Amino acid sequence: MTNVSSIIDDALKEGRSALLEYEANAVCSLYGVPVAKVKLAKTSSEAVKNADEIGYPVVLKIVSPDILHKSDAGGVIVNVKSADEVKEGFNKIINNAKQYKAEANVLGVLVQEMAPSSTEVIVGMTKDPTWGPALMFGLGGIFVEVLKDVSFRVAPITERDANEMVREIKAFKILEGIRGQPPADIDAIVDILLKISKLVMENPKIDEIDLNPVFVYEDGAKAVDTRILLKE
Ligand code: ADP
Ligand code: MG
Repeated sequence: MTNVSSIIDDALKEGRSALLEYEANAVCSLYGVPVAKVKLAKTSSEAVKNADEIGYPVVLKIVSPDILHKSDAGGVIVNVKSADEVKEGFNKIINNAKQYKAEANVLGVLVQEMAPSSTEVIVGMTKDPTWGPALMFGLGGIFVEVLKDVSFRVAPITERDANEMVREIKAFKILEGIRGQPPADIDAIVDILLKISKLVMENPKIDEIDLNPVFVYEDGAKAVDTRILLKE
């Protein structure tokens, strides 16, 4: 896909080792991964225009090649409900970023569709020096960070591999639906794993992927944070 390789090559030419979130969002979308709608705003009035187009509520996020973990920089505000809140949020995010890292190159604020909250999962890819690209799957938050309850497969993966990955984590029961919760759409997760596998096989300059989180619903799923690291 020419679009994907030009996004990657342009970033590398600029000396960047990571795509900006809206670039990673576009790359994932071009491979058919369901993502939240995004629009970059350089001014607060542009942010309001974007929010009107996307529809309220929205999420605001810092866009800077020097800030990879946005929350750490006070760079994410969810559930922004009006034009006034967008303006206020825009300024707050820019100020937070400057305080977090004075020398950060701030390109603007991403206005993003707010996805209804749901079970959060993580789909990732890291490169193993021996085996090459490996896909990772797990539930979000403490399941990955504290319990390390994740599954891995070397890419490329088959549909059967993807199904096994989802089912072999200890927390799989949560996805099946417990305590009156509806079951999560496992096929939607399998589909994302397969598409990420194809993306990394066809684009060897991608060094790491972190879709964290992906919200999974009874019907469908949506990646709300897409991070892609690069290596020439
Ligand atoms: P970080 O760079 O800190 O990982 P994220 O983009 O993941 O930033 O945002 C932090 C958290 O905000 C996410 O883990 C998620 O819970 C919530 N969030 C982010 N984007 C959205 C969205 N579009 N809709 C709903 N919640 C979101
Ligand atoms: Mg995240």
